[in-house]
Amino acid sequence: MKTISVVVPCYNEEQALPIFYRETTKELEKIDNINWEFVLVDDGSSDKTLSVMQELAKSDEKVKYLSFSRNFGKESAMYAGLENSKGDYVVLMDADLQDPPSLLSKMVYEIENNDYDCVGTRRVTRKGEPPIRSFFARKFYKLMAKISKTEIVDGARDFRMMTRQMVDSVISMCEYNRFSKGILSWVGYKTLWLEYENIERCAGQTKWNFWKLFLYSIDGIVAFSTAPLVISSVLGFIICLISFFLMAFYVIKALVFGDPVAGFPTLISITLMLGGLQLLCTGILGQYLSKTYLETKKRPIYITRKTNIEK
Ligand code: UDP
Ligand code: MG
Repeated sequence: MKTISVVVPCYNEEQALPIFYRETTKELEKIDNINWEFVLVDDGSSDKTLSVMQELAKSDEKVKYLSFSRNFGKESAMYAGLENSKGDYVVLMDADLQDPPSLLSKMVYEIENNDYDCVGTRRVTRKGEPPIRSFFARKFYKLMAKISKTEIVDGARDFRMMTRQMVDSVISMCEYNRFSKGILSWVGYKTLWLEYENIERCAGQTKWNFWKLFLYSIDGIVAFSTAPLVISSVLGFIICLISFFLMAFYVIKALVFGDPVAGFPTLISITLMLGGLQLLCTGILGQYLSKTYLETKKRPIYITRKTNIEK
């Protein structure tokens, strides 16, 4: 009999977690010949998420939990869950039932019968989301497709089931700056994509706002593409070329036609533009440098405060 590990990152999910547990258990019971465990990761919640987990663990020995010493972010929580899972198949799920547990049986079926290593899911609609967020999300995926060699599927969710072999590959990528959409695609393997319509969260509040998502997308670009560095070098080169021709033009104009060099406004505009461009390029460089800096410190991805998982 195979075991599924259900990995759930939870941050302030005291309301959603019991509903999630109930619904998911119901769906897991429907699958033949399968055992399961829950790996609930409390990402430093400030509400009663941890005590909800402890209650669940008391009544059901399939429930394993792990609680962080502070909020480390969803990426760290997912990593901790994967690292502490023991199942033959591992599925990543959000605690808010936006990832329908009814898809679990199909996922198991595809992995066992059709030689897939991974069954991922993508949203085909973004109903219920602010339009401006959907717009920028679409643009982000388009941009990533152009500048990154790692394929990042539009609307892909973190909700996916993987075989133990693939999970071990994901864990072996122990980088500090984690962008799981990129990492999960980078490791390869045969993936089937299931599609579904967006579902709104069952209880509680979303932890993301526009600004957080924007910063996250920059992390994604820096982690999986070096195109911005190339672009800034090319930009620098083009501007040098233009300035060279411009210089030649003014020298000839002054020597041949004896024109006085006029154009104070032009001078100001060009100085400002160059200053701006330089700052932009330094900024881009700084982004990569800061990531490298954090990476070289080799800090742990998460710190455990409480758990019932035996190593
Ligand atoms: N989450 C987390 N740590 C965080 C933020 C979120 O573990 O710092 C978890 C959260 O509890 C939920 C999942 O990540 O299970 C997705 O978060 P949310 O539903 O807020 O995101 P959305 O679905 O709105 O993109
Ligand atoms: Mg959600």
